[in-house]
Amino acid sequence: MRYKFLDLKQLNEPYMGVINEALRRVAESGRYVGGTEVERFESLLSAHCSTLSCDANTSRNQATQFHAVGVSNGLDALRLILKAWLAMGKLNPGDEVIVAANTYIASVLAIVDAGLRPVLAEPSPVTMNLDTSRLGEYLTERTRAVMPVHLYGRVCWDETLAKFVTDHNLLVIEDNAQAIGAEACCDGLFGSRRSGALGHAGAFSFYPTKNLGALGDAGAVVTPDEELARTVRALSNSGSDRRYHNILIGYNCRLDPIQAAVLNAKIGDLNEVNERRRMLARIYDAEITNPKVKLPLQGGKDNVWHQYVVTVDNRDDFRSYLAAAGVETDIHYAVPPHRQPCMEVIFAGKEFPLTDYLAARVVSLPISACTSESDARAIASIVNKF
Ligand SMILES: *Cc1c(COP(=O)(O)O)cnc(C)c1O
Repeated sequence: MRYKFLDLKQLNEPYMGVINEALRRVAESGRYVGGTEVERFESLLSAHCSTLSCDANTSRNQATQFHAVGVSNGLDALRLILKAWLAMGKLNPGDEVIVAANTYIASVLAIVDAGLRPVLAEPSPVTMNLDTSRLGEYLTERTRAVMPVHLYGRVCWDETLAKFVTDHNLLVIEDNAQAIGAEACCDGLFGSRRSGALGHAGAFSFYPTKNLGALGDAGAVVTPDEELARTVRALSNSGSDRRYHNILIGYNCRLDPIQAAVLNAKIGDLNEVNERRRMLARIYDAEITNPKVKLPLQGGKDNVWHQYVVTVDNRDDFRSYLAAAGVETDIHYAVPPHRQPCMEVIFAGKEFPLTDYLAARVVSLPISACTSESDARAIASIVNKF
C-alpha cells in the first residue's frame, strides 16, 4: 500500500467539471485581464472575511466590511501590502517588522524586498507559531509592524498579541498563506475572527498545494482599510488608479481571471475541505501513541491543518522507516530563513536555537484530500510501530 503525501491531480479531480466550465467561460468571454471572475472572487473572499461561520445567529456575525484585492501570488500579496504602507507614509525604509523565525522564507523575502528590516522571533515549541509572550524581547525604537504567520494552518492570534500591537501602535500584516478559513479564539483588531482579517492587512496564497488552491499561482490581499485596498490595487496594476493615469511606481501583480474562475469554482467547498483535514488530524491525535513521536498541539476552529507536523529526534530514520512502509512525508521546513544562503549576511551572528531545533525535527504527515480516514488510521498504526 502507498500513502501519497499529496497528489494535486487527484485533489482537483472532483472539481474537473466545474473547472472546465469556468475555463470555458473565461476563454469565451474575450476578457483576459480583470473582469467578472476576478470581481466575483474578490467579493466572495471579502464576504468570507467579513462573516463568522460558527456563530451564525449572534450579533457579532457581521464584522467590519473587508476589502479583497486579487493579486498574482502570496509573496506578491505580502510585498504589495508593505510597499503600499511605504507609499502611504505609514512605514519608512529601514523600519523593523517582527516575524516568526521558523516561517516559510516568502514572509521574510517580502520584508527585505520592501526595504524593511526583518526581526526574527523564536516560535513557541507548543504552538510552533510566534511565542506571543516573548514579543517584548524583539521591540526596538524602529519596530513598526508585526507579521503573524499562521503556520501549518494554526491561527497566530491571542490577547497578548492584540495588546502588544495596540500598546505599541504597530501595524499587523498577517501571512495567511496556510490558514484560510481558520478562526481565532478572540477578536481581531476590527471585530472579525477570521485568519487574514485579524490585523490591518492579510496576505493570502492560492498556490496549488494550499487549502484553497488554484491551477497555478494566485493570491489576494484583504484589509478593512479602504485606502490600503486602493493603493494595493493601483500598485498591482502598473501603479494606475484609472486607465493611463499612473499615481505610483507600480508592478504587474494582477490576479489572472482563469485562476479566479478556478477559485470561484472551489471556494464553496472550503469549509468542507477544512473540516476533512480536522477529522484526519483528530484521527492522528487519537491514534498515534508512539512516545518517540511528539504530536502537534490539538486544534479546534483555530486550525485548518494545512500541515500535520510531528517532531521526532531521529528524523532521518523515521522518514526512511515510513518510506519503506509506503508512507510519503515532507519537511516544512528543513532550512529556516536565517540559514538560507541569500540571508546569511542579514542574520549573521544571530542565533535562533528553538528554530534550529524544530527545523531538525519536524516531519509532515499526509493530511490532504488524497488521504482517507482509513489511510490515516493505517498511517497512525505504522507510526506506532517505529
Ligand atoms: C505559500 C506561502 C507563501 C507564498 O505564497 P506563494 O503564493 O507561493 O507566493 C508565503 N508564506 C507562507 C507561510 C506560505 O506557506
